[in-house]
Amino acid sequence: MGSSAAWHLASRGEQVTVFEQFPPGHDRGSSHGSSRIFRLAYPDPFYISLAVRALPLWHRLEEETGRRVLERTGALDHGPATATSALHDALRAAGRPSELLTPPQAAERWPGLRADTTALFHPEAGRLHADHAVAAFQQAARQGGARIRHGVKVTRLSVRGERAEVVTEGEEAVIADAVVVAVGGWAPSRLSGLVPGLPPMRVTQEQPVHFPAPDALGWPSFIHHPGAGLPADSGGIYGLGSDDGVKVGFHGVGPVVDPDHRDRTADPRALGRVQQYASRWLPGVDHTAPAATTCLYTTTPDHNFVIDRAGPLTVLAGFSGHGFKFASVIGALAADLVGGASAPSRFALGPPRAS
Ligand SMILES: Cc1cc2nc3c(=O)[nH]c(=O)nc-3n(C[C@H](O)[C@H](O)[C@H](O)COP(=O)(O)OP(=O)(O)OC[C@H]3O[C@@H](n4cnc5c(N)ncnc54)[C@H](O)[C@@H]3O)c2cc1C
Repeated sequence: MGSSAAWHLASRGEQVTVFEQFPPGHDRGSSHGSSRIFRLAYPDPFYISLAVRALPLWHRLEEETGRRVLERTGALDHGPATATSALHDALRAAGRPSELLTPPQAAERWPGLRADTTALFHPEAGRLHADHAVAAFQQAARQGGARIRHGVKVTRLSVRGERAEVVTEGEEAVIADAVVVAVGGWAPSRLSGLVPGLPPMRVTQEQPVHFPAPDALGWPSFIHHPGAGLPADSGGIYGLGSDDGVKVGFHGVGPVVDPDHRDRTADPRALGRVQQYASRWLPGVDHTAPAATTCLYTTTPDHNFVIDRAGPLTVLAGFSGHGFKFASVIGALAADLVGGASAPSRFALGPPRAS
């Protein structure tokens, strides 16, 4: 999110420096790896329109950098009819294509996965390559004149009147007219007490699993909604094909962690649950050869993001396990805020938040 903000700010002529504590391509936060789902399908028209805004910005990023970050694969949602029909109605109301399918129709088109009860396909979804996208944001930001400084940790952040001061681990101090704070799982510890109206956020370690599949890159992304064949309290399953196989994960079920002191090794019980799922619902993968990875979710109580400004600080936080698809437009919203615009009320700091 910070790299996208740097791109948009630099392309609007601002002088930009990015401080990132880890090296390029690191895997300690939320944005690493070869895949994230891009989809328009949300039951809520607000998020559909945000994804619609994100789409041309992903294409602009590709044009400016010559890097491919988004592949169109389509997406399959399946599970109880209430879930699929709500998505179908919302997509149709927004004028976007989608089609309802029976499980046998879905199985005929995608024999690698079994659909539960009802299915919905929407063709405008796709796969974002997360590592390539972050690298592309940084390349585009650099092309616009931004400085990207990896391996530089910010240890102090303070407001000094209308400006803000950033102090690094090496005691370098920088005074800026505006600071965009996009620190992922470090937001609760870094921002509490500094930014009024920040909602509480849970930082959890999630554990998606890659399974080998002969045609992984040909898979649509998929979401198995709970409430029919999947227990209502399971959080739901998401998955998609990637360079590393078919990625599968339960949504937002991991343990609360401290991002600086977490065990990044796979939890065998959580791995077993995903394997069990794959053996039942994903006949197209080799469920006996899993490769688990870990990643951070930073989740707000209502799962809406925090994108707002408090004096010279613009906060991008709480992306609640579904932010990546919007990253291209979130940087633009951040640049709007820095330029004096106000935040969409959905993302505003301080209660009450519109839902
Ligand atoms: C397993 C998993 C699957 C997901 N799948 C999807 C999906 O399919 N589709 C989707 O839309 N979203 C998905 N998401 C969510 C999405 O990936 C996140 O919402 C998004 O990556 C959050 O980005 P961020 O910039 O907020 O955090 P991060 O990428 O973690 O970036 C924060 C950065 O701040 C740096 N930082 C922190 N503190 C300091 C400091 N003091 N000084 C300097 N640097 C600092 C960190 O090192 C880090 O690089 C998924 C997330 C996970 C974990």
